[in-house]
Amino acid sequence: MQKLVEISGFTRIRRIAPISDDTHGGRAKCLQRLIRLEMPVPQTVALSFDVVHSIAAGDLPDLAALLKTFGGHPLVSVRPSSQDPDWGGPGAMLNIGMNDARHTELVASHGEEAANALYLRFVQSFAINVARLDPEMFEIDRGLSRDALQSALDAYETETEEYFPQDPVKQLGEVLRSMARTWGGTTARLLRQAKGAPADAGLGLVVQQMVLGVGPGESGAGVVQFVDPVTGTDKINGRFLGQSQGRDALRATTGAIYLTRDNRGTSLEVKCPELFQTLREFGDLCRVKLREEMQIEFTVENGSLHVLDAVRVNRSSRAGVHIAVALANDGVINRNEAVLRIEPHSLPELLHPQVDPIDKPAAFLQGIAASPGAAAGKIVFSSTAAQAAEARGEPCILVRRETTPDDIRGMHSANGVLTERGGVTSHAAVIARGIGLPCVVGAGDMHLKFKDKTLMTSDGLVLREGDIITLDGTSGEALVGAANMLEPGLGEAFQTLLGWANDACDIKIRANADTPADAQVARNFNAHGIGLCRTEHMFFEEDRLSVMREMIFTDDAADRAAALERLLPMQRADFTELFKIMHGLPVCIRLLDPPLHEFLPSRRSGLRDLAEAMNLPLSDVTRRVESLSEFNPMLGMRGVRLGITVPEIYDMQARAIFEATIEASKGGAPVVPEIMIPLVSAKKEVELVKSRIDAVAAAVRNEMGAEFDYRLGVMVETPRAALRAHDIAQHAAFLSFGTNDLTQMTYGLSRDDAGRFMGDYVKKGVFAEDPFHILDTEGVGELLKIGAERGREARPEIVLSMCGEHGGNPESIAFCRAAGFDYVSCSPYRVPVARLAAAHLALKLNVSR
Ligand code: PEP
Ligand code: MG
Repeated sequence: MQKLVEISGFTRIRRIAPISDDTHGGRAKCLQRLIRLEMPVPQTVALSFDVVHSIAAGDLPDLAALLKTFGGHPLVSVRPSSQDPDWGGPGAMLNIGMNDARHTELVASHGEEAANALYLRFVQSFAINVARLDPEMFEIDRGLSRDALQSALDAYETETEEYFPQDPVKQLGEVLRSMARTWGGTTARLLRQAKGAPADAGLGLVVQQMVLGVGPGESGAGVVQFVDPVTGTDKINGRFLGQSQGRDALRATTGAIYLTRDNRGTSLEVKCPELFQTLREFGDLCRVKLREEMQIEFTVENGSLHVLDAVRVNRSSRAGVHIAVALANDGVINRNEAVLRIEPHSLPELLHPQVDPIDKPAAFLQGIAASPGAAAGKIVFSSTAAQAAEARGEPCILVRRETTPDDIRGMHSANGVLTERGGVTSHAAVIARGIGLPCVVGAGDMHLKFKDKTLMTSDGLVLREGDIITLDGTSGEALVGAANMLEPGLGEAFQTLLGWANDACDIKIRANADTPADAQVARNFNAHGIGLCRTEHMFFEEDRLSVMREMIFTDDAADRAAALERLLPMQRADFTELFKIMHGLPVCIRLLDPPLHEFLPSRRSGLRDLAEAMNLPLSDVTRRVESLSEFNPMLGMRGVRLGITVPEIYDMQARAIFEATIEASKGGAPVVPEIMIPLVSAKKEVELVKSRIDAVAAAVRNEMGAEFDYRLGVMVETPRAALRAHDIAQHAAFLSFGTNDLTQMTYGLSRDDAGRFMGDYVKKGVFAEDPFHILDTEGVGELLKIGAERGREARPEIVLSMCGEHGGNPESIAFCRAAGFDYVSCSPYRVPVARLAAAHLALKLNVSR
């Protein structure tokens, strides 16, 4: 009877043997599955995580016994077998057992070149990877001659003052020890931790009989996969280096047999149809039984096929989605598993163009990756230049110190935005994410000279207006010249997967959308409504901006009323359109919340335009602008403070919302708008605004003879609002946590300036992450929990949500779900990421139950 237990620290992999991913690693387990599928896998022995751990500590298993299982003259390979194959491991070592005696035998049996090649490769990799000798010493440029082999052996001897080890047991011991120790080293640990491995992840090793793929009959070595790794569609893709007696298997290119039908050379399908057919069958078997698209590594020796290994096909995000959906459609996996196989973080790669990593140009600048995607274009330094470039049909990248509402039109015309200042919640970042524009902010290493229209980096590189650069908003880099791009992959498979994710979600995902275009994107991604419409963003169009400025600027009630009168129809039309696009889905409109400076003209031309519009001397306008300027506008006359001191603004907005509600409800389901009050810190603020809005509602009902409902809610974005949520909730149907401002105020960190030192802070470990990017669950999160708890205590049916930029982050969504929030709201292009992340959370919870 076969012994199934581990003998002397190793286990021979057979159909039945105690091998698992958790004890021996994914590769060992996969090889066992291939054996169970009756594939011709050469004899393989597995070493468990525990054994490899002991090897690292200097305690070797009985290697003589291990090698004996491979017969009299063992020639073996060793490969890593980590728990998750994506965590990597030390490189494979081949041809262990090669020595002078074996070389002589092989010269006789397989020819001089083949024997030299096998021995030389082993000496080289042993010297470099095990003895840690300088690789340059082993770059021997004398082909596969005996001389070359001798030089390598001599170099080894000179450097180590020892003969190259001849005893296979010693060779194997050294290889195993080296691989075990490499895995325990800091570099390997950090690398695998970056891929999600725990710090103490184990390594298994597999020792496998070498099959040389050299012989008088059809021989060679190859790999094959049956999908396209870029698109995920069916495609036979591989390489087979054929070998005939006396030729070098490792070097041969002429006469190579390609598996790709459209490649050079003869197709294996034509040359060896039976072999090809068997490989196809193995591919299908892997797909169905291992439930994955696998790449098969194989050797052919005198016409007989050996399967050395099978690994998951390395794939792009787009291919990942295609493969998962195809497997589910074919019934190989179920839909939930398909959803779980796609990492939410990988989706931005599908949603936006990306820089092709092959031939990527050099980066000249690194900033904060604020909005994903990539674009190439000519540098422009002003919004006017961006608009002119668009008119000429020339793609451009808008480069600014930071952006203001004056730049919105330029941002719409540009293909990407690069700013010197700002962080992930700065104006440029928020707007760019909203419109799906690649954006890099906080690139402090550039010196801008607007007068000369130049950009200079600290390395002395000078770029001028018109020079072409590529902006990579996914990595935060700016690159010289125009990079090759990979186009987004929103195909049928993507839509199907999102539909399945939607079915699994148990928290709603809304979008932050301010314009009809945003709302349309949100609808296309099946958002559950609009969670935040920042109304100040509706005033950035040139004609509206000047009316808005007049309204803010004037201190005369009649003039203000006149300006508001002009704004009312514009707002009414905006809201009607949003309600219509959203088709009865909830739309949450935030009353005006501009930091005032965003609306004040900063340039001389803007001041002059305002003076003209208001028919005032320039000096009056300049004085008034100065008097409205604030030292700290983000903590100044913003949000509800504006609504309390100049209540006519919110009156106008409420009226526009209600009139649009009546208009959009005609002939369809009644619209129930949600109105949100920003930057609240006291209950009294809510009471004052609520009584005025109720009055406007009553007036509109009366005037128009129509009924409608609405919900009034509060944006919780000051620490005090979170702490006093029980008071505030008495007047609020919903609380929406604005984590951008809440983070700013909890930390006392400026959203716009933190980018300057955030990099250093994260690098030095002061903050684990940029808290504007990843929700600080300890501090800001505590305020969210307190706010939610107290709000619910006062009003159990209250609707809770998060609408800060964190809303689209998988980590924040986990937090919100756990805290029992009803929905999160994020920029429209983040909706698919958020949806998938929410589905993962729900499905993983179900699996663990
Ligand atoms: C917030 O503060 O989280 C928020 C969503 O509002 P804004 O970014 O417009 O201040
Ligand atoms: Mg805010």
